[in-house]
Amino acid sequence: MQSFSNIYNRIKESSNSFLGYPLAKDFSFSEFAPFLDLCINNVGDPESDSTLTIDTKEVERKCVSFFADMLNASTEEVWGYVTNGGTEGNLYGLYLARECYSNAIVYYSESTHYSVKKNLHLLNMRNVVVRSQENGEIDYEDLEQILTIHRDKPAVFFLNIGTTMTEAVDDLEKIKEIIRKYAIKNYYIHCDAAFLGTIAPFVEPRPKFDFAEGVDSISISGHKFIGGPIPCGVVMCKRAHRNRVANSISYVGTLDTTITGSRNGLTPLFLWSVLEKIGKEGLKLRVQEAQELAAYTEKELSGLGMNAWRNNEALTVVFDKPSDELCKKYQIASEGNIAHIICVPGLTKDRIDVFLRALELEVQELVG
Ligand SMILES: *Cc1c(COP(=O)(O)O)cnc(C)c1O
Repeated sequence: MQSFSNIYNRIKESSNSFLGYPLAKDFSFSEFAPFLDLCINNVGDPESDSTLTIDTKEVERKCVSFFADMLNASTEEVWGYVTNGGTEGNLYGLYLARECYSNAIVYYSESTHYSVKKNLHLLNMRNVVVRSQENGEIDYEDLEQILTIHRDKPAVFFLNIGTTMTEAVDDLEKIKEIIRKYAIKNYYIHCDAAFLGTIAPFVEPRPKFDFAEGVDSISISGHKFIGGPIPCGVVMCKRAHRNRVANSISYVGTLDTTITGSRNGLTPLFLWSVLEKIGKEGLKLRVQEAQELAAYTEKELSGLGMNAWRNNEALTVVFDKPSDELCKKYQIASEGNIAHIICVPGLTKDRIDVFLRALELEVQELVG
C-alpha cells in the first residue's frame, strides 16, 4: 500500500491536472480542521432537532434556503436537505415520486446519468428510456410516441438540467406542452441539475427548472461547481411530498425524512462558508469566468480541426475523442467517439494550453 503522504501527493497532482470532470478545484476548507476532531452528525430531518445535539442543522437549513432562493422558491413551499451528492438527490426525488404514484412510469433520456438506472432498480419503478437528440437533449417526438401508449398511467418525468456528457438541458416548457396535449392528469417532474444547478440561474437564457414552473423535486451536487473534498449536494422538493414520507422516530427524537440515518455535518459547513462569502453575485462571476475559458477552449479545439462544440454557454466543450493515451494522461472523459473538457473554476488557461499543444502534436502526427 502507498503511504498516506504518497496518496496525498498522487491526489494533489491528479486533481491539479484533470480536464474532463465537473469538479471545481479552487476551494480551501482548512479553517474547518478543528471540526475533524469532533463527533458531528446531522441525523434525521434538518428542520427537526434530534435528542443528539452534535449537528450543524442550522447551517444546513441556511444552505437549503440559499438554493431555494436561487431557484425563486421560498422555504415555505420547499423543503430540502444536504445529501451525499447528486445520486442521492435523484434517488430521493424518484422515491417521492413513487410514494405519490405507486404505478407510475418513469421517462428519462438515454443521456441520463448512469446512476439513475440503478436508482430505478432499487425502487422497482417501471421506466422507459427515451431517445436523445444529437446534442444530448431528450427527443420530444420519441417521448410523445412512447407516452401515447401509456397515457392512462401516471408519468414521472426525469429531466436533465445539464447532461453528464454534453451539458444538454431538457426543455421543461416542451414537456409541459406534451403533458397538456395528452391530458396527463397524474404526473411528477424531477430535475437532475447535478452540475448545472448552481450555474443555470446565471446563464442567458436561463434554463427553466423552478418550482414555480411546476417542478416537484430537484437534485444538485455541491462538490461539483462549488467544489470540496467530500461529495455532497442538496435535494429540494415541494413540502407536501416530504410530509407524505415523514415518520417520527423516538430513538433519535427526530423525523426520518432523509435517505440515510446519520448524515454528514461537515459538508453543510463547507457549502455555507462559500455561499455566505461569495453570494449570488460571486456565483455569477464564477460562471462568467468559466464560460470565457470554455469559449476559448472551444475556439482553440476548432482551430485544431477537432469538431468542437458546446450547448448554449456550456462549460462542457465536446470534441472528437483524442487517443487513449491523451485521454488517460489528461483525465478526459469520453463516450464513443466524443470526448469533453469541462471548464470548472480553478482550471487555468495554462493547463488547457498544455493539453492543446500535446493534442496539436498528435494531430500533426496523424496528418503527417
Ligand atoms: C454527476 C452527476 C450525477 C451524480 O452526482 P454525484 O454527485 O456524483 O452523485 C447525476 N447526474 C448528473 C447529470 C451528473 O452530472
